[in-house]
Amino acid sequence: MKKVFHRLLPQSCFLCGDSTANGALCDACFHELPEIPSPCFRCGLPLPTPGICGSCLAKPPAYQRTFCLWQYRWPTDALIQGFKFHARLQLLPLFADQLANKIQQSDPPYPTALVPVPLSNNRLRERGFNQSWLLAKSLASLLPNRPDHIHVGRRQQERHQTGLSAKHRMDNLKNAFYLTHSIHHNHVAIIDDVITTTATITALAQLLANSGIKQIDVWAIARTPNINKGIY
Ligand SMILES: [Zn+2]
Ligand SMILES: [Zn+2]
Repeated sequence: MKKVFHRLLPQSCFLCGDSTANGALCDACFHELPEIPSPCFRCGLPLPTPGICGSCLAKPPAYQRTFCLWQYRWPTDALIQGFKFHARLQLLPLFADQLANKIQQSDPPYPTALVPVPLSNNRLRERGFNQSWLLAKSLASLLPNRPDHIHVGRRQQERHQTGLSAKHRMDNLKNAFYLTHSIHHNHVAIIDDVITTTATITALAQLLANSGIKQIDVWAIARTPNINKGIY
């Protein structure tokens, strides 16, 4: 009863503090979230017109489709950092609902299993939760085909990814992930919070592709600008 009563009370917008009838953001702040114009079908980077970017055409990645909700810049970065580093879990329904809507508006087929990017045990202990795991769990409950959840292991010896170049990130992540059991799915989606250099999703997608999975999609809350190519 207490829970129901709490839900009926107005909440404050996470960004501006105004009251909101439902959800973590007021309508005005929600409409400010920066979408990605004409994202590359394969990797999610913005393009002048819909299609596949030059990099993906020259060297197709191990994943086939990418869906990201927003650009990783203000105010999306504040939302994700609040969720991830300050455990503002009231933001989870916003991310999960929006991502579930986006996926359901896309053309089928849909994946039959979700693979959240794992954290190493040390990182998991530090943070207390895995943001991608929470997102995958919420998404699975919202999607009509109720996809399975696949756990992948992550070794601990990598250095922190922050501050490393794309090549060093890739080297750092080689052999970072491992399967804990065989996977009986042909189509899965990797779930991540933010895609930066794509090193993480590439390493994970390669492992999944090597295990025989034919179609690998990537779903994320946000995508960082591709500074090297000057696209943003
Ligand atoms: Zn607001
Ligand atoms: Zn691309």
